[in-house]
Amino acid sequence: MKFDTDFHMLINGTLHSGNSRLDVINPATEQVIGSFPDAAPDDLDQAAAAARAAFPGWAATPIAERQAALAAMAQAVIAHIDPLKRLLTAEHGKPLAEAEVELQGVAYWLKSAARFELPVTINEDSATRYSETRHVPLGVVGAIAPWNYPLLLAIFKVGPALIAGNCVVLKPSPFTPLTTLKFGELVKDLLPPGVFNIVTGGDSLGPWMTSHPAFDKISFTGSTATGRKIMETAAATLKRVTLELGGNDAAIVMPDVDVGKVAKDLFWAAFRNNGQMCIATKRMYVHKDVYEPLKNALLDYAQSVKLGDGSEPETQIGPMNNVPQYHRVLDLIEDAKAKGYTVISSGEPVGKSGYFIPITIVDNPPEDSRIVQEEQFGPVLPILKFDDIEDVIERVNASSYGLGASVWGGDEDAAFKVAKRIASGTVWVNETQHLSPSAAFGGMKQSGIGVEGGQEGLLEYTSAQTIVRRKAATLQR
Ligand code: NAD
Repeated sequence: MKFDTDFHMLINGTLHSGNSRLDVINPATEQVIGSFPDAAPDDLDQAAAAARAAFPGWAATPIAERQAALAAMAQAVIAHIDPLKRLLTAEHGKPLAEAEVELQGVAYWLKSAARFELPVTINEDSATRYSETRHVPLGVVGAIAPWNYPLLLAIFKVGPALIAGNCVVLKPSPFTPLTTLKFGELVKDLLPPGVFNIVTGGDSLGPWMTSHPAFDKISFTGSTATGRKIMETAAATLKRVTLELGGNDAAIVMPDVDVGKVAKDLFWAAFRNNGQMCIATKRMYVHKDVYEPLKNALLDYAQSVKLGDGSEPETQIGPMNNVPQYHRVLDLIEDAKAKGYTVISSGEPVGKSGYFIPITIVDNPPEDSRIVQEEQFGPVLPILKFDDIEDVIERVNASSYGLGASVWGGDEDAAFKVAKRIASGTVWVNETQHLSPSAAFGGMKQSGIGVEGGQEGLLEYTSAQTIVRRKAATLQR
């Protein structure tokens, strides 16, 4: 299926085709499904200038009006959810049901951001002085998004940035720009021109943004390696940064767990979205008492899961999204095999085309193996045996990553105590991946700087400003 090729950037409230185009490939079929503008530096300059020009008016717009605009954007997504989900599946590969979950999340996050208020703290209100701290918008925010949840992770930034009174230039990943561009078209008349812009392009566009003097902040979601480059480039103009980076989330499975009850949840903790999730379980530490039963339950369940083209209704896991990631995951599997680890795959790659990798489990590899230490971001999971809780906490916390983690056990209080000792931005007990627009989410260590979500996330799009007024009665004549 070839989609409408008419995808445009959104700059200053109008649609722009750009002077040259890049193709998007459906990862299940390897067919070109559309093309998108490859922005020139001049296009970025225009978007940044439009955002800068729109900023004073948007910042002065009553927050109730900004909230109403976000609620209308949410409504536009819901009204077009069917074509949007087909487009998302075609460019990403994820099953239609998962695409719908992502788009429902987009609408929910926009509606939730629309409910936020900016706090004012009164520091002093005495006979001599009044002092308050308020939160003012930063100016122009550059939002840079990855390909794994293309529109949802962009909206994690766009919603709070707009509510706080900033203008935004959003750059989606070149692997998955189409749903974002259609979203731009749907919402273009819901905001004043220039308040929200979308630019697309190849590998040069991100660095142009992070070095561009018109941006006050870069909010980035992507790999830790790119996060480092962004921080370095942003330093030249002291841009604020929020960096949501990679992870190597551990699940700790305690000996008192009910294997029959948790096996399916643990499977999806690792393999939802084909493992292409920052907070996927990427190493599973299982107590020796339940190791064999859980391993067998995971392998049995894997046999029942349907891999295939995401547009087919029964598909539960699609292909890898793109060629570089496909090869990165295959390389990790090959390395595990070459080292002689026990590598168990659920089957052969499906179909003649597409970037498909069967579900793969690596049985108790060494702690220092690549498959345990590196972020795989794909459908291969190492499961590791432990028998001492102190030892496993040490192994989990030894990682340079600290994004998410989970602890699974029959005794919830004991599991909660273990959770509090894990050095990760979020730790779940007996579940994973539950995110909320009202809760701060971010990484410790090399998984990021700053947070998204909640009051804390909103305030990252503001500067704290303290205003101090000496009272007239104390002024000397
Ligand atoms: P990536 O770092 O390759 O790219 C992310 C975005 O940055 C893309 O839009 C890309 O075009 C752009 N980019 C690339 N180089 C750039 C540069 N030098 N300057 C500015 N922009 C640049 O990441 P990816 O492969 O798209 O995403 C996968 C990674 O993202 C994984 O590591 C995953 O864990 C991480 N991730 C983190 C979170 C989180 O919330 N912490 C969420 C999702 C994904």
